[in-house]
Amino acid sequence: MTRLFLIAGALLMSLPATAQDKPEWTLVIHGGAGVMERGKMTPEREAAVRKALDASLEAGSKLLATGGSALDAVEAAVKVLEDDPNFNAGRGAVFTYEGTNELDASIMDGSTRKAGAVAGVTRSKNPISLARRVMEDSPHVMLAGKGADQFSAEKGLEQVDPSYFATEERRRQLETLKAQKTSWFDVDRKFGTVGAVAMDARGHVAAATSTGGMTGKRWGRIGDSPVIGAGTYADDRACAVSATGAGEYFIREGVAHEICARVRFKGERLKAAADVVMAETKALGGTGGVILTGPTGEMAWSFNTPGMYRGKVSAGGKKTVAIYGDED
Ligand code: ASP
Repeated sequence: MTRLFLIAGALLMSLPATAQDKPEWTLVIHGGAGVMERGKMTPEREAAVRKALDASLEAGSKLLATGGSALDAVEAAVKVLEDDPNFNAGRGAVFTYEGTNELDASIMDGSTRKAGAVAGVTRSKNPISLARRVMEDSPHVMLAGKGADQFSAEKGLEQVDPSYFATEERRRQLETLKAQKTSWFDVDRKFGTVGAVAMDARGHVAAATSTGGMTGKRWGRIGDSPVIGAGTYADDRACAVSATGAGEYFIREGVAHEICARVRFKGERLKAAADVVMAETKALGGTGGVILTGPTGEMAWSFNTPGMYRGKVSAGGKKTVAIYGDED
């Protein structure tokens, strides 16, 4: 008998740590990466950001804890951040050069690898819900511009006047960009795209990302956020990823899919795969970060900027909200 226990114990020890400690569900979120350094933000802003990240984790984890799907959880978590003007998504989105707000979002279900995305939409209160509708209620993966707005109205999603998305702070950032003839990044020194990844009690993963893009974007520019494989990817055989950063580089690197491919084909741990891909993205010239979770219950983030608005929580684990690079 004792021998049996010893053998069972030895077998357990030989399992990867992730299999033994696998939480029932996980949720990781982000609200953008960039030059977030201590003392640079007002205490009020910092408190507001932490509160919003906490509320986003709450919204997603409430669903996961009661048996909800990863897909529902990532949509719910992203909606909270879209509604909060502190982030560059939904209300609070950055301005185009022409002074409008054009929103991009995407969502992916790791269990079916179905995906939905919208680009340059102007009237849906929650672009992430529109992306989900594209996935579930159309034969397509990506809709853009007027057609996507029309699809949204036809499907009965909540519509708002485009002025709903505009905030004074973002308008000032556009004016600064124009006056100083500077680049989008020098205006705010951070990306404010939002995203969420989750694993549910059935072991399925999902990812969602939503953004206003870059201040002063022109000519119908679209970044990585609505591009499946660049800003968002989810695959039950590997992991779920949501990115934030200089979209052009993330598209060229194929960041989200590249990370999942490393996990799937090389058997790398999530953090290791993400670190390699973020280093390669930086080598191209791209700054930013990613959040990840996998069917193993692993949770990770990786960023090549001084900070990243981020948070994570899992069943039975502690909730973490962080901004600066040196935080947990
Ligand atoms: N990735 C987004 C874009 O390129 C920007 C961001 O992360 O804030 O549109």
